[in-house]
Amino acid sequence: MSAQSPSGGPLLDGPADPEHDPRATYALEPGYVRALTDRIAATSGATSAVESPLNGQPLAHIPQSSSGDVAAAVSAARAAQPAWARTSLAERSAALLRLHDLVLDRRDEICDVIGVESGKARKDAFLELAHVALTARYYARTARNHLDTRRAPGMFPGLTRVDVHRIPKGVVGIISPWNYPFTLALCDGLPALLAGNAVVIKPDAQTMLTALLGAELLEQAGFPREIWQVVAGPGRDVGTPLIRGVDYVCFTGSTATGTLIAAQCAERLIGCSLELGGKNPLLVLRDADVEKAAEGACRAAFSNAGQLCVSAERFFIADQVYDRFVERFVARAKAMTLGATLDWDVDMGTLISQDQLDTVEAHVADAVAKGARVLTGGRHRPDLGPYFYEPTILEGVSPDMTCFGQETFGPVIALYRFHDEAEAVARANDGEYGLNAAVYSQDGARARELARHIRCGTVNINEGFGATFGSLAAPMGGMRRSGMGRRQGSEGVLRYTDTQSVATQRGVRIGPQYGLSQERYARLMTASLRVLNKLGRA
Ligand code: NAD
Repeated sequence: MSAQSPSGGPLLDGPADPEHDPRATYALEPGYVRALTDRIAATSGATSAVESPLNGQPLAHIPQSSSGDVAAAVSAARAAQPAWARTSLAERSAALLRLHDLVLDRRDEICDVIGVESGKARKDAFLELAHVALTARYYARTARNHLDTRRAPGMFPGLTRVDVHRIPKGVVGIISPWNYPFTLALCDGLPALLAGNAVVIKPDAQTMLTALLGAELLEQAGFPREIWQVVAGPGRDVGTPLIRGVDYVCFTGSTATGTLIAAQCAERLIGCSLELGGKNPLLVLRDADVEKAAEGACRAAFSNAGQLCVSAERFFIADQVYDRFVERFVARAKAMTLGATLDWDVDMGTLISQDQLDTVEAHVADAVAKGARVLTGGRHRPDLGPYFYEPTILEGVSPDMTCFGQETFGPVIALYRFHDEAEAVARANDGEYGLNAAVYSQDGARARELARHIRCGTVNINEGFGATFGSLAAPMGGMRRSGMGRRQGSEGVLRYTDTQSVATQRGVRIGPQYGLSQERYARLMTASLRVLNKLGRA
């Protein structure tokens, strides 16, 4: 059991039912849960039960928002947004820096809630809050670079002054998934708030408490409660009225749902960013440090039990190092510890639900039935908790198998041998996705050159995903059916703004004057354009 949190601690002490289930230790205090769920915009009285995937035991009853509640939440956000947009960029940045400190101060409590609700290993829960802190600091410190009004060159140098303003969109709708429930609820919203927007968020039904804790931290950091509204309920029932009311949608989830959401946004002519699925390749080149590659490969493949959009599911390994790499990688995977605990000492937690377990089991069963070999894993572990599944490495996966091209979103890896690097890149680019890739090589320059040919939005060299994920100044997102738009960097905040260009004309007007005919004016303009080009003006 982890330590009680500095805030008094959300965890009930000791087993809820020690006689029958020694693992049943993860209930949250009812008062703590109520304080969180009171934040949901819901008036119908309907609730939905959530359980902890650590032990399958009830955790909370989550109030459900009706479509009227969603409309009311959007209206309340819209009413509060103009006053928020009038606050200075310095004030909004200061709130982000307070949030940075708060998530670090309340580390244990946040890790407990994430762990109880998602069942992930504590080290994976910690990465979520570290990512929120990184995001808050990056946007607070760079706010003016992105959002200050800037001067642009005018049509007539010295005579046309142009100011380009960044205007907040208004109300941003966020729809977030369950797999990284803390950072994916917050990290896209922070730049939206910084730019002067209000947010209405619909987190996944399985991880509402974590998202609500995020909302509580935002308020404590100084963001007014009205500008961060939380709604709850099934995706379609709540998502549709949300999209109908807001001015921009930021969606993270599956490609299938993302496609539906893009169509609804198109009907209303509002913008959206879509962070979607992947079938991410990891390449081990002939000059890779095999030991380091095997260590990184384990993190790339099995972080959060593979339930990570940027985790690797396809490994392409050069002939020259194949046997040595596979031997070390399999040995490391076999040595990984699994367990239902909130302590730091397990490498991998559980899958989140029966649905996830069903998908993982179906992919492995299909591959094995069609001739794939299981080098390690391939087993459900109900002795640890209802949805635990072992880290699994497959050889001999072929295109007729489901896991060849479809995202498993679990701890299941296919190994492929390659003979030349151009062939490896072509196979890495095969399929419809283009989210993230990893390349292991001791020759950084050669790996960087190869990376330019991989059709993925992010490529990590000598790391699985963390180098790009943690580099907040670098845009992140998918090519092809892995998404549209980018989070992080300038693009991650500018998506929440409209540009407004204000041009002030001085001296001469744009058209004939002083009695010039249209023809003489056209001649004068022609000469001016030639001069400006000779001077090298943009
Ligand atoms: P999902 O698409 O089923 O659900 C994601 C969110 O969308 C949830 O909040 C859900 O309630 C909501 N939703 C579902 N149907 C909806 C509808 N019709 N209208 C509006 N909202 C709806 O995805 P999932 O299976 O829960 O999450 C896993 C998927 O998300 C994987 O494919 C994974 O790769 C992807 N993902 C991508 C990223 C990224 O940054 N690219 C990050 C995390 C997860």
